Amino acid sequence: MLTQAEPEENVAVTEVLADVVVVGFGGAGGCAAIEAHDHGATVALLEKQPEESHYSNTRMSGGGYHSPNPAGNRAALVAYARAMFSGENLPNMIEGEQPDFSEELAEAWAEMSPQNEAFMRGLDPQYQTVSIANAAFPDFPGAKDAGYSVVKSTYTGAEDEATQFRVTRGADKTEKESGEAFHACVLTGVQSREGIAVHYGTRARRLLTNAEGEVIGVLAETGSGMVRFLARRGVVLTSGGYEYNKRMRKAFLDGPGAEGWAFYGTTANTGDGIEMAVRLGAQLTKVGKIAGRIICAVPERRHGLKIGLNTNGVGKPNELVVDNYGARYASERRITKDPSRYIFYKEALRFDTLSLSYPRIPSWMIFDETLRAAGPVVRVAAALYNNIDWGADNMKAVEKGWVLSGATLEELARRIHDHPDNCNRMETDTLLATVARFNDFCAAGRDEDFDREATSLGPVMKPPFYAIPLYPGGPNTKGGLRVDAERKVLDWDDRPIPRLYSAGEISSAFQFVYQGGGNLGECIAFGRLAGRHAAAKPDAADLTITNQAVQAG
Ligand SMILES: Cc1cc2nc3c(=O)[nH]c(=O)nc-3n(C[C@H](O)[C@H](O)[C@H](O)COP(=O)(O)OP(=O)(O)OC[C@H]3O[C@@H](n4cnc5c(N)ncnc54)[C@H](O)[C@@H]3O)c2cc1C
Repeated sequence: MLTQAEPEENVAVTEVLADVVVVGFGGAGGCAAIEAHDHGATVALLEKQPEESHYSNTRMSGGGYHSPNPAGNRAALVAYARAMFSGENLPNMIEGEQPDFSEELAEAWAEMSPQNEAFMRGLDPQYQTVSIANAAFPDFPGAKDAGYSVVKSTYTGAEDEATQFRVTRGADKTEKESGEAFHACVLTGVQSREGIAVHYGTRARRLLTNAEGEVIGVLAETGSGMVRFLARRGVVLTSGGYEYNKRMRKAFLDGPGAEGWAFYGTTANTGDGIEMAVRLGAQLTKVGKIAGRIICAVPERRHGLKIGLNTNGVGKPNELVVDNYGARYASERRITKDPSRYIFYKEALRFDTLSLSYPRIPSWMIFDETLRAAGPVVRVAAALYNNIDWGADNMKAVEKGWVLSGATLEELARRIHDHPDNCNRMETDTLLATVARFNDFCAAGRDEDFDREATSLGPVMKPPFYAIPLYPGGPNTKGGLRVDAERKVLDWDDRPIPRLYSAGEISSAFQFVYQGGGNLGECIAFGRLAGRHAAAKPDAADLTITNQAVQAG
C-alpha cells in the first residue's frame, strides 16, 4: 500500500496518456474498453496479473449470460429488471434501496441487455452461443413477456454437463467453451482494436485527481516501477470484487467473514477498486451481497484465506447436508438448483441468539461410497485455476484430509466432532437419526421434511462414509460501489465523483436476488455503458495531479 511515508523512489515516474483508463481486464473491463474505443477514445486497459498467467473470474466462469430476446416486451423487461435489482415492485418487499434511480437502471438494462449476444458475436464471427435458461423467477412482474433468456459461450457449439468447465485454457480458441470462450471472444475484440493498449502486470493503486476533484488517472505499480496513467476523459473501475481481501471480508460479510466463508474464483480479486474509490469518498452499497450458496473450502490459503471450491455434489443422490449438530435444515436441492442456488448462503447464516453461535457455519455434506465413486463432488477444472488438485474420484482429497472419512457413521461423527470448525458440536445420535430418517424417505420416494425432489433421493448407506465442511460463499461478491444508471460512481451525498465510472461485480446491479448469468450479463451491458459514458466526456481542462500520492513523488 502506498502511504505518505513511502520512500520517494517508489513513487510514480513514468507517464502514459489515454482518453480512458480501465482498471481490470475481466468481462466488464474488456467490454468497457471496447465500447469506449468504439466511441472515439484511446484506451489504456490495466491488468494486474501477468499476461501468461492471467485468469479472471470471467475466464473461470461458466460463460453464461443474460441476453433477453430483443423482440420481447420492453415494459415487461423493465418490470422484471426492477424486481431482480431491488425487488421494490414485489409485494411485501422492503429491501429495495435504490429507488432514486431504479427506474433508470431498469431502463438501461432493458436497452442494453437484449443486445448482449449480438454484441459478443460482433466481436468475433467464430464465437457461438447456446440457449440454456429463461426467467428464473417466473412469478416476478414481467417474467412472462420479457422474453428473458440466458445463453452460454462456446466455440465448439457444445454445452452440456460433461463439457461444462472443461479445462480449455491452453487450447486453441476453436476448442474453448464456457468462460474461456467468453474471455477469448472479448480478448479478440480488444486485440483487433489498435486504440486499446493492454498493460498486463500493472496493478492500479491510487486514483489521481486534479484541483477540481476530477479523476484524471491512476497510479499503478508495474514490474519496472510506478507509472501514472493519465486519463483525459475518465477512469472505469472494473477490478472485480473483494473475495480475497481479508479486511473487507471481515467488515462486509455477515458472521465470521474471514474463516467462516469461502470463494472459488480468482485470488486476484482483492477489492482494490473498492479501496481506491473509497479513498476518494465513494459510497458503498449492499456490501455483504454475494452470488453464493454453501461450498466447501480447502485449508490451502491465499492472502490468508481458505480457497473455496464449487461443490456441485450437493443435492445429488447418496448425499445430505446437516448443521453442526447433525440435523438437516433444508432441501439440499435448493442449494444447487436455480433460482435459489445463488441466494442460499443466507440460510446458512442463521444465528442462534441463545447459544450466540452459527449452527450452520460450517454445514456438513455427508455422503457415502456410492457418491464418492460416481465422480468428483466439486468442479475440478475451476479448482485447477487456483492450483487445487482434487482428483477425479475424490480420493486425493480424502488422502489430503480435505474430505473426512469413517468406516461407520459413528466414526464419521467423531471425526466431524474433532474438526476445529465444528467446535465439538456434532452429536452422534442426532446424525445417526438424521441419516436413518433420510434413508427412509429415499426408500419411500418422498422427503417428508423438506420436500427434496424425488429424483435426487438416494440413500446414504454404503460404507465408508464421508463428510466435507460447507461454508457460505460462492463464486463472487457483488456488493461494493454505489453507481447510478450511467455507471457513475456516487459519493455519500449521491453526487457523482467526476469522471469515475464502474461496472462488473465491484458494483453489481443485482442487489436483491440473483439468477446465474447475471454477472456476465451486466459485465457486457453495464461495462459497455461505463465505457461509453467515460468516452463521451469532454477532455479534462486540467491534468495537473493534486492529490497526496503524487505530491509524494
Ligand atoms: C467458477 C465460476 C463460474 C462462474 N460462472 C458464471 C456464469 O456462468 N455466468 C455469470 O454471469 N457469472 C459467473 N460467474 C461470476 C462471474 O464470472 C463474475 O462475477 C464476473 O466474471 C466478474 O467480472 P468482472 O469483470 O467484474 O471481474 P473479473 O472477471 O474477476 O475481472 C477482474 C480483473 O481485475 C483484475 N484486477 C484486480 N485488481 C486490479 C488492480 N488493482 N489493477 C489492475 N487489475 C486488477 C483482476 O486480476 C481480474 O483480471 C462465475 C464465477 C466463477 C468463479
